[in-house]
Amino acid sequence: MPDQPLLVFGPRSLDYDFGPGHPLTPRRFGPGIDLLRALGAEPGLAPEPASDDELLMAHTKSYVDVVKRFSEFDHGWMEAEAGIGSGGDDPPFHGMHDAAAAVAGGSLRAMEAILAGEVDHALHPGGGLHHAMPARASGFCIYNDPALAIARARRDGLRVLYVDLDVHHGDGVEAIHAADPAVLTVSFHESGRYLFPGTGFVEDVGEGAAAGTVVNVPLPPETGDEVWLGAVNALLPELAATFRPDIVVSQHGADSHLWDPLAHLQNTVTAMGTAARLVHDLAHEHAGGRWLATGGGGYDVYRVVPRSWSLVWLAAAHRDIPDETPAEWRDRWAEEAARYGQAPLPATFDDPPTPTDPATARAVDRTVETVRSTVLSLLAATVGRR
Ligand SMILES: [Zn+2]
Ligand SMILES: [Zn+2]
Repeated sequence: MPDQPLLVFGPRSLDYDFGPGHPLTPRRFGPGIDLLRALGAEPGLAPEPASDDELLMAHTKSYVDVVKRFSEFDHGWMEAEAGIGSGGDDPPFHGMHDAAAAVAGGSLRAMEAILAGEVDHALHPGGGLHHAMPARASGFCIYNDPALAIARARRDGLRVLYVDLDVHHGDGVEAIHAADPAVLTVSFHESGRYLFPGTGFVEDVGEGAAAGTVVNVPLPPETGDEVWLGAVNALLPELAATFRPDIVVSQHGADSHLWDPLAHLQNTVTAMGTAARLVHDLAHEHAGGRWLATGGGGYDVYRVVPRSWSLVWLAAAHRDIPDETPAEWRDRWAEEAARYGQAPLPATFDDPPTPTDPATARAVDRTVETVRSTVLSLLAATVGRR
């Protein structure tokens, strides 16, 4: 087994591009992959488009046809259909089908490398497009690569634990697999009362034969890093132990960060990195080490996203966190970061702790308790029936 995780990145990763001014920018790969390389990571799998048959594991044929039609976009204005349209979150761009199918292909091939036993851990920074629905684009996401990777593992009969650490509710992955008792989706996110997509409440726990296999932990705005990590630590190990997955898929959106321009939590990359290490350890404890990690959202693309990806990779590479970010990396990206108002680049992989006011911390404690009391017995009962 190679001692390095499989890193998924290639030329096509840059093609997933909604155009200048869109928050989900491929500019993030410049400083992001550069920092990974500085740590010794080397991309080992270049994404190529998934086949139509593969996309149909999570999407409808008519939706794939709509995406292909929008792919012919040249210039001008296109009316919205299936969530894609000019002026919206998911504007059309030339070649969008191939670009989006390649993100899906990257996560699917990484999943297959894990299923074949070629690697234990894989990281696909360009993946994690968790909002895409079976027949609709949403929230910068065209095809749902984590849901497709999970579907691929399900074809081999594996039980899948999906952990979504993005600041936004992992609604698409949840919707696609909610009825399957062999997929447990767990999403920690800023409450839908304050943030897109407006869903993911405590009482949404899955239904019928799959009751207890949907877990949502909505957090109030201004939740700081210790409290965020406390919620993850309080729930994830117990959920994993109850569910006993065969493989773990996780989404590491970096948009819960204090500096992120699109959301209101006050997380740090330090807490994100610690959470990644917990996910890693749970994969070894319960799932023979099988772990596919993806990126996700993250819109402070110089100061936050590169360090967040690196901390996930370091966890997967069984490496300690270096004291400092490389000075050459900081020098190389300083000017571009300043141009986008994201300077200076941090000199360390750690951020200072971000306090949470006591009332907010108590509200999170109550949420965690409610999740525990509603979900764990349902999940245990569902697991008991298999
Ligand atoms: Zn997000
Ligand atoms: Zn490991």
